[in-house]
Amino acid sequence: MSESEKIRQRLEAVLGTLPPGVGLVAVSKFHPAEAVRAAYDAGQRRFGESRVQELLAKEPVLPADIDWHFIGHLQTNKVRQLIGHVAMIESVDSQRLIDEIDRRSAEAGVVTKVLMQVHVAREETKFGWYPDELMEYFRQRRFEALRATHICGIMGMATNTDDTAIVAADFNAIALCKRRIEEICPDLRGFDVLSMGMSGDYPLAVKCGSTLVRVGTAIFGERQY
Ligand SMILES: *Cc1c(COP(=O)(O)O)cnc(C)c1O
Repeated sequence: MSESEKIRQRLEAVLGTLPPGVGLVAVSKFHPAEAVRAAYDAGQRRFGESRVQELLAKEPVLPADIDWHFIGHLQTNKVRQLIGHVAMIESVDSQRLIDEIDRRSAEAGVVTKVLMQVHVAREETKFGWYPDELMEYFRQRRFEALRATHICGIMGMATNTDDTAIVAADFNAIALCKRRIEEICPDLRGFDVLSMGMSGDYPLAVKCGSTLVRVGTAIFGERQY
């Protein structure tokens, strides 16, 4: 079987497990443009990348109707390069970052969609707002200062463990964050994305209310770093 055929089959297998209303970001980081092309030809339009240079290298050699989602840690000094090239930045982990996204989006005359990344995993290596910090952001309605950024929801990752009780607790904590924000700011509009779940845990994430899963390995195979 060709590599493209494998990608197509694995993509269809993943899609077959997702209930209606749950979207898929095919995470293509570290995989070549040809791999993206194979998934694109099978109908996939939303892809996830975690490095700015890699996204900017793939974008021009692939079809223009792809929605690129940025899912990696983003340094403020790289924001300007990314604006206008992404459908959504899922990994907003600080006030400094969202303010820079807003400033650069306004400058470019575009509105950038973002998700707030929340940190619940029991791993210090992961990024994101701590839940209390994020609640405070919304309680103080700091988003009202944004002119060119639309906060569409929350993204989060569970602890990397085989213990499904811990993973489920993390997903529930992420989902709870979103509900609490909706209680704090009942007037928020278009705040409906709950992005959680990766290759190893997305079925559980869906059970916990995920509306958007980010799946790489289960579609493209192991990454060569
Ligand atoms: C790499 C990555 C994924 C995909 O991980 P897989 O285990 O390959 O499915 C999902 N989300 C984020 C934030 C990532 O960095």
